[in-house]
Amino acid sequence: MHGTSTLEEADRLMTVCNACRYCEGLCAVFPAMEMRRAFSDGDLNYLANLCHACGACYTDCQFSPPHEFNVNVPQTFAILRAESWSAYAWPRAFSGMFARNGVAISIVAALSVAGFISGFAALNDPQALFGIHSGPGAFYALMPHNAMIVLFGAAFLYAILALVMGVRGFWRDIGEPVGMLDDGGSLWQAMKDAASLRYLDGGGVGCVNEDERPTDRRKIYHHLTFYGFLLCFASTSVATLYHYLIAREAPYPWWDVPVVLGTIGGIGLLIGPAGLLAEKSRRDPALLDQKRTGMDVAFIVMLFLTSLTGMALLVWRDTGSMGLLLALHLGFVFALFVTMPYGKFVHGIYRYVALVRYARERRMLGNIISGKVVDDRDV
Ligand code: SF4
Ligand code: SF4
Repeated sequence: MHGTSTLEEADRLMTVCNACRYCEGLCAVFPAMEMRRAFSDGDLNYLANLCHACGACYTDCQFSPPHEFNVNVPQTFAILRAESWSAYAWPRAFSGMFARNGVAISIVAALSVAGFISGFAALNDPQALFGIHSGPGAFYALMPHNAMIVLFGAAFLYAILALVMGVRGFWRDIGEPVGMLDDGGSLWQAMKDAASLRYLDGGGVGCVNEDERPTDRRKIYHHLTFYGFLLCFASTSVATLYHYLIAREAPYPWWDVPVVLGTIGGIGLLIGPAGLLAEKSRRDPALLDQKRTGMDVAFIVMLFLTSLTGMALLVWRDTGSMGLLLALHLGFVFALFVTMPYGKFVHGIYRYVALVRYARERRMLGNIISGKVVDDRDV
């Protein structure tokens, strides 16, 4: 017996698939499934987070609807993934927040913070909000640097704490001891698999989206989003080092490292999320968890709007619009941080953890049956 009807359905599907095994070359899920004869709740949550939602095992399956076996692994795992993130969320009181109206909550939070910052500045000194400020330190006319660090540092640390607490519960539930975190080989293998989205290709042909013709579009947009996010993070990190190590204050000239990184990353964060949203709107509903599309869409929309406001700030930073644009951008950054642990962002962390476990299982099995191939994709 499992704790939920989704876990029961996932168990039924894995039992059917374990007898069939037709899809064992498509991704990591099926080889991981074949290492088991029975499935605990933790095993099923692990397999669901190992799934990259490429959809191939739905279109390839001879038992998918309207067959009476009603096998739909991508949709069942999509629902189970979302339920697992909700079950492990910390604190639990926030776990259901994004199921239906994540976009509205995120945008209201962003506009509230932007309104608070701009209102506070306007009340103290309207020139701080509407005046033209340029050169080093211009951004701090709106909000002192130390106040920015306290506000955004607290939001960032809260997001990290909530994410760590959630993943800790998942890690325990899938039965992995903390000690295995020194398994450098598995950590590195999982990092390579995650960075290349190795299993988002339907076994090599591409991802299934609106019809049965696979393409790499989702993978490309996902890469643009992921690497765009990393470049923007690197831009902020370099700017922080500039500020504290060599006393150089933002904003920086267009050719300087933080601006170059932020601009390239920002472009990736405009094209990638826009492409992912377009792909999602076209996707076959049979592959989706239709009750929780708000959770997915909220994070993608927040990434897009954070980048859009950042790029607008870059273009108009030497005009009287700078104060309002900076307040708006800070509002979206703040809302992005505090909503991250309860939205689609967590899928990257949980999937990485599942990939670590899969890499470890393959290494252990490989040691036992030395020399035998354990993943068809290595052939
Ligand atoms: S998804 Fe269908 S075809 Fe693939 S292993 Fe499962 S039952 Fe077999
Ligand atoms: S990654 Fe693709 S093939 Fe593998 S279980 Fe998920 S949807 Fe099916």
